[in-house]
Amino acid sequence: MTGYRNDGVGTAVALVNAVTTDGDASPGALGALLASYNFKVGEPVTDDEAEALRHWARLLRPVFAEADEEGAIDLLNAVMGEVPMHPHISDHGLGPHLHYGPPGAGLVDRVRANTAVGLAFVICEHGAGRLGVCQDTGCERVYADISRGPRKRYCSKTCLNRATVAAFRARQAVTPT
Ligand SMILES: [Zn+2]
Ligand SMILES: [Zn+2]
Repeated sequence: MTGYRNDGVGTAVALVNAVTTDGDASPGALGALLASYNFKVGEPVTDDEAEALRHWARLLRPVFAEADEEGAIDLLNAVMGEVPMHPHISDHGLGPHLHYGPPGAGLVDRVRANTAVGLAFVICEHGAGRLGVCQDTGCERVYADISRGPRKRYCSKTCLNRATVAAFRARQAVTPT
């Protein structure tokens, strides 16, 4: 949706989870995470870049957590307004695709631009209700649900199954036999 070669939505989810839940937010881990989402990382991620990425992830998390549509839009617009944007088509061996940051932008600005635009597409095309924090007790991971059909409330099948089993047991506990 933001160009299949660079999944800004998936990157946003993975980055927020790595930084604000139980993930590894070290420079090396963040570099590997971004490379796995097809960002051109090149040099090892520096401590300053890692700190800037962690800061960005903490700014994005409230967009997922905000239940109110207008609230989520305001939050995303506010953080997006701080990001240098200069959309252009790039190739670098992957075939033509859209970049949102300025040509020659560093890793952090590229990540900011692509994740912000990715989340903006989700809100505009699917509604802010498709961005959320997992409803499973004890799970703080965020998710973006761009599937068709009823909206999800869990970050993964694992959490959905655990919550379903817990609800079933709770019902059984109060049902006379
Ligand atoms: Zn590219
Ligand atoms: Zn979960």
